[in-house]
Amino acid sequence: MSGSQCARLGGPLVRQLLDSVDSVLFDCDGVIWRGDQAIPGAARVISLLKQRGKKVFFVTNNSTKTRKMYADKLSSLGFDAAEDEVFGTAFCCAAYLRSECGLRGKVYLVGSDAMRQELEAVGIQAVGVGPDPVSGKQLDWASVPLDPEVQAVVVGFDEHFSYMKLNRAMQYLTQKDCLFVGTNRDTRLPLEGGKAVPGTGCLLQAVETAAQRQAQTVGKPSRFMFECVAQRFGLRPERCLMVGDRLDTDILLGSACGLKTLLTLTGVSTAAEAAAHRDSGSAERRAMVPDYYVESIADLLPALQG
Ligand code: PLP
Ligand code: CA
Repeated sequence: MSGSQCARLGGPLVRQLLDSVDSVLFDCDGVIWRGDQAIPGAARVISLLKQRGKKVFFVTNNSTKTRKMYADKLSSLGFDAAEDEVFGTAFCCAAYLRSECGLRGKVYLVGSDAMRQELEAVGIQAVGVGPDPVSGKQLDWASVPLDPEVQAVVVGFDEHFSYMKLNRAMQYLTQKDCLFVGTNRDTRLPLEGGKAVPGTGCLLQAVETAAQRQAQTVGKPSRFMFECVAQRFGLRPERCLMVGDRLDTDILLGSACGLKTLLTLTGVSTAAEAAAHRDSGSAERRAMVPDYYVESIADLLPALQG
């Protein structure tokens, strides 16, 4: 089978591809669900893959839920999924700070309560969740009170993002040994009907601009996201398939880690964008070309049912 050619997957190729892997990593939004609606046939695909002895994982850049919340969402949408198969950026970010950075102190968290919970689960205390308590009128902004035990600023999706949070994050980050970690760089979250809202990447870039520093990111396309799964389950990259709807996150992660890659057209990226990367002659853009594409992961069903 030829790699990175963006071939349409169908017929006997489906069985051949599935036989060549032991594990399938699914991105969530745009692949198995859109918002709160399951992609038709996706739950059946996952249960048949498991019946065929494949390991299945759910890998999402969305930092607004804990593993437990994702397991509950998956089961309410009819998916057969366990908590330890879910790798969201709230969980992976906590794992990164604990195991890769060996963080001991507290975190100033620009993020959700779900992130606070995942940090707490690995013994890291987070401060700052929810609306910032200081009103702009109360004091000289550069003298905002800081917690001396904070050793890292972490940025995820935060619906309470504000000028005062940006200011506080900047004040912590002027301390040179303060770590700076972001969950992901997705700049836009697509909604139904062609609408979109700003993603975590916008918040992270605001903090980076203010602090004049670059954050490390944990989410796709950072290799850490795959390593997080691979370490726990002993995965061999060449025996894994990454299924995603975004070329610049899911497919790039897959090719950077040596996984087989499959683009599904139920989300953000199009087959035309993939073909344009393939034909560009640029090595950087070719890393975003999937091996295969399908209209929907439901296209895997005939091979799994047969
Ligand atoms: N971040 C947030 C806050 C989101 O709401 C979403 C999608 O719903 C994403 C990231 C992208 O998630 P995924 O990696 O599952 O496509
Ligand atoms: Ca997605």
